[in-house]
Amino acid sequence: MKFVSTLLDYSLWPAIFGGALAITYTGLSHGYEITGFLIAYFCVAISLFILERVRPHEKVWHENDGQMPHDLGHTLLTKVMVEVTIITLTAVGIMKGTESRQSGVFWPGHWPVVAQVALGLVVSEFGLYWAHRIAHEWMPLWRFHALHHSPVRLWFFNTGRFHFVDTIKSMLFGMPLLIIVGAPMPVFFWGSSITAFIGILTHCNVQMRFGWLNYLFNTPGLHRWHHSMDLREGNKNYGENLVLWDLIFGTFFDDAARRPPVKIGIKEAIPQTFFQQLAAPFYWKRYQAEAKARLESKI
Ligand SMILES: [Zn+2]
Repeated sequence: MKFVSTLLDYSLWPAIFGGALAITYTGLSHGYEITGFLIAYFCVAISLFILERVRPHEKVWHENDGQMPHDLGHTLLTKVMVEVTIITLTAVGIMKGTESRQSGVFWPGHWPVVAQVALGLVVSEFGLYWAHRIAHEWMPLWRFHALHHSPVRLWFFNTGRFHFVDTIKSMLFGMPLLIIVGAPMPVFFWGSSITAFIGILTHCNVQMRFGWLNYLFNTPGLHRWHHSMDLREGNKNYGENLVLWDLIFGTFFDDAARRPPVKIGIKEAIPQTFFQQLAAPFYWKRYQAEAKARLESKI
């Protein structure tokens, strides 16, 4: 039994990620790339929903935090409306720009697609890494990113809990680099798909182990440290898909000797409702002062 459990620990992440890529590829090869991606994403979500109940990483994270409607609201606003709009506009721009050429001057368009996608991930990750790192280290942007770190539990459902300003900022850092180097459409398509699959996996509350994958991809194991309240662990592992830039810039963190903390979240106050969560970053200092006064009046 122990052997089967260990085998599952190590195989679940690559199996789910690989399965999602295979479904997406099947859709793409039949001319239905968006449908293929959506089916793959739905399959990943359902698999994680079931696995979180069958073999949770932290049972206490099953407890309802009352944030589900708001998590869904932020996911719909940022992932569906903002990201789809920006990706569609970028795709239209690229298609118009590439009518007269196959790919940019700087782009190795003769490489196999897999190698081009890998290069695209490395390039865009440089921007995404710094977008994420600055959001943690510079207060004017932290106030928007704080929403993503405010939950007291991690599960697949709060993956998309981002303030829309935070999402726009990340896309402004990640996509222009690919446009400047002249990456073609397949690189954008696979880059966006891989980001979506790795993103939903990083938040999952499923018992898994990762081994050497921790030195390549942003895994749930690494991302749980990133949600630690202890900033010596939390201000680490900024990579969205890859950990390459964390390794290069010295922000990679993993500790195989102990489990990541169960108690996660942030020290600042965050409103409990959707519209207040959207508004609070715009008057952050006043909101924090009012929240502190409310807390002190109760004591
Ligand atoms: Zn973060």
